[in-house]
Amino acid sequence: MLIRENRVKKIRFPLSRENHMIIDLRSDTVTKPSKAMLDAMLSAQVGDDVFREDPTVNTLEERLAKLFGKQKALFFPSGSMANQVAIKLHTNPGEQVICDKYAHIYNYEVGGVAFHSGASCKLLDGHRGMFTAAQVKEAISPSEYYYSQTSLVEVENTTNKGGGACWDFGEIEKIKEVCKTNNLGFHLDGARLWNAMVAKNETTQQYGQAFDTISVCLSKGLGCPVGSVLIGNEDIMKQSLSLRKLFGGNMRQVGYLAAAGLYALDHNIERLAEDHQRAKEIGAVLASLNTIKKVEPIETNIVIFELNDAVDEAEFLNKLKEKQIHIIGMGSHKLRMVTHLDYTAQMHEQLIEILKRF
Ligand SMILES: *Cc1c(COP(=O)(O)O)cnc(C)c1O
Repeated sequence: MLIRENRVKKIRFPLSRENHMIIDLRSDTVTKPSKAMLDAMLSAQVGDDVFREDPTVNTLEERLAKLFGKQKALFFPSGSMANQVAIKLHTNPGEQVICDKYAHIYNYEVGGVAFHSGASCKLLDGHRGMFTAAQVKEAISPSEYYYSQTSLVEVENTTNKGGGACWDFGEIEKIKEVCKTNNLGFHLDGARLWNAMVAKNETTQQYGQAFDTISVCLSKGLGCPVGSVLIGNEDIMKQSLSLRKLFGGNMRQVGYLAAAGLYALDHNIERLAEDHQRAKEIGAVLASLNTIKKVEPIETNIVIFELNDAVDEAEFLNKLKEKQIHIIGMGSHKLRMVTHLDYTAQMHEQLIEILKRF
């Protein structure tokens, strides 16, 4: 009897939420493959990729290499692994990587730069995850023998912790010149490069010309279940296959996943503009709330905002959760929302209504 009563209570309690769908804005990684993407995956031709015999993987790699005007591309199970292999390709133990203090490779890859490459990060104090060519120039180690030698500069576009900010391509070109003059490698963490290119109307060829190596993610904005790709010319990529094996990332009939990537390249890039538009609309509503101190400028699909000092963060998050809205905290009283392929027009309408009354 008791159990039954509890059950009734449990069913009754959330009645007010019943007509709310779950709105998950924690990250653009929460997307699930669409029916059409699953169909493409199911009909993929596959083979053993360790023997380099998976035709779909080979097609994806060739297509991405060509897209960026490079000679080679390699499919990876994660963006972190693609970045870490890239760093290893560019550095020797004891050397230094110049990157922003917000960089994903420094903050969110478990100290992999030190662990895998025995290298250290020279952190730049940039703006929203972006820095200048002048800052890079100044950070390069002098040539005296007792310094840690600088060997790589790393840029992230869009910047994750920087709130989806997009680089000014002119500054990237200036940094490229500094790298060339000083014989430094230049790597792009392009987990959300697709967002930057759509927002700023830029091309893959431009980025291919600017950087030595580029990692791009297929499972964020593009909606694939798995996959990142590292792109570069033959000379720098020579060891990439054996390093991927060393890192435990060689896979077999992985064409099923590569097929999702090919589908995404055809269908899911232009639509990122929708995510950007919705993020801007969310930002406008947030800016009007008196619980919120500041909304960071929104260029792509990431909305970072800061609560007023008097507002309790946990309580704020819980109140959203009661409305079936899931977002995450970034520390320092800042919260993040990320729009994506599975965040529909209907969800958007509902979220805006809820936020307006918040
Ligand atoms: C998500 C992300 C990565 C790593 O991706 P995983 O596939 O989760 O390892 C790398 N860089 C940036 C900027 C990211 O946002």
